[in-house]
Amino acid sequence: MHRELVKHVLEREDFGETVTVAGWVRTRRDSKGGFSFIELTDGSTMTGLQIIADNELSNYESDVLNLTIGSSARITGTLTESPGKGQRVEIRATEVEPFGLADPETYPLQKKRMSFEHLREIAHLRPRTNTIGAVARVRNALSYATHRFYQDRDFLYLHTPLITASDAEGVGEMFRVTTLDPAAPPRVENGAVDYSQDFFAQPAFLTVSGQLSAEAYALAVDRVYTFGPTFRAENSNTRRHLAEFWMVEPEMAFADIGDNSDLAEDYVKYLIRYVLDHNGADLEFFNQWVDEGLLDSLASVVDGDFERITYAEAVGILERADTSFEFPPAWGEDLQSEHERYLTEKVFMKPVIVIDFPFDFKAFYMRRNDDGKTVAAMDVLVPRIGEIVGGSQREERLDVLAESMRIKGLDEQHYWWYLDLRRFGSAPHSGFGLGLERVVQFATGMQNIRDVIPFPRTPRNVEF
Ligand code: ATP
Ligand code: MN
Repeated sequence: MHRELVKHVLEREDFGETVTVAGWVRTRRDSKGGFSFIELTDGSTMTGLQIIADNELSNYESDVLNLTIGSSARITGTLTESPGKGQRVEIRATEVEPFGLADPETYPLQKKRMSFEHLREIAHLRPRTNTIGAVARVRNALSYATHRFYQDRDFLYLHTPLITASDAEGVGEMFRVTTLDPAAPPRVENGAVDYSQDFFAQPAFLTVSGQLSAEAYALAVDRVYTFGPTFRAENSNTRRHLAEFWMVEPEMAFADIGDNSDLAEDYVKYLIRYVLDHNGADLEFFNQWVDEGLLDSLASVVDGDFERITYAEAVGILERADTSFEFPPAWGEDLQSEHERYLTEKVFMKPVIVIDFPFDFKAFYMRRNDDGKTVAAMDVLVPRIGEIVGGSQREERLDVLAESMRIKGLDEQHYWWYLDLRRFGSAPHSGFGLGLERVVQFATGMQNIRDVIPFPRTPRNVEF
């Protein structure tokens, strides 16, 4: 069907030419003089296109005056320089072809502002709002920039399985994948479920990370990245956790924790610079309506170096802080969101990379440091959000890895292939995971992670 996207029309200057657009009515105002102003949007850009339709149109009364908010139409007309302020071009309609009308009595998106909570209940319609439309464009830009960044640096895009038998994080927050009848599963003699009769003949789950598979490929083709859905059955109702989210996981051979930190810093800066360069109107909107410190905060990320400190230093700073935290900081305890934000917002006023966390609460595959109590782990923290990247140098020494697994209670037999990577041509290697939604939150200033993914999955919510 012939039509041009609004974002392209808004850039044209060949006034007098005929153009055709299609979209949804955002507002309509009828003037006494027998004409109507319609603002039409098609989601291609923040700004709508102003259309002027007058009663010379044969269907002015029958159609134009019925174009309520949310109705769709295709409109052809003359591209005209706009005398009004706020827009440069407008269309003088010569043809108005309505498609679906939207009943003003029942269409939920009227002109007034609605809360994000309310919009979540109409998640199928919320992409028509300014905010959620802008989020979709920024999310798209960050995804595209991700591929550009890694492709430009010779990383291979790797597709790792979503169904897995291994718990990469060793934390047991996994969704089970089974074809057994939950009401009457086959059982072994002692009453336990007999997974040998299940689809995969053993317990299977949705993946919490593609890392273990990515390591196998990094130790063959030098550098890879995954970019796909990730699942965590963590019952945490926070504004930064989802049960299904998208993670980007680069993995590099012959790279240590310093190289890993450098890559993470370059990548995060690249993403933010990319949206500053390509999504200016969307970011201006967020800065005006969602978080007025947004643009300054984004500028501070691309302009300076990230702070780099050890976990021990971080705990020291937090212990000396004259703030009362809900969770008192102490060596051996994981950093909480409030600690992460204090470090980035109050102490350093910019992103912070924390390395060398205690072995006790970190994953089994992280490389043990010589001090015997920490591992070469790395978290990137940013203001407003806290952690957006978690990564590490991986343990490449077979004996040390096997010991870490024993201490963490993991079954070596089960990870035989992962240990093989250390038996044959093992090499230092490193990688991290970046949660795409956390970056979308950071780039847009959106408070709640449920509003930066089209259809969020959270505890007790799988509608749409
Ligand atoms: P957090 O402490 O915030 O729960 P984590 O330590 O569990 O994060 P990792 O296992 O290191 O996170 O995962 C890597 C990245 O994936 C995180 O830095 C974050 O950006 C993202 N991430 C992790 N869990 C979630 C989740 N439930 N929802 C959205 N993003 C997540
Ligand atoms: Mn977590």
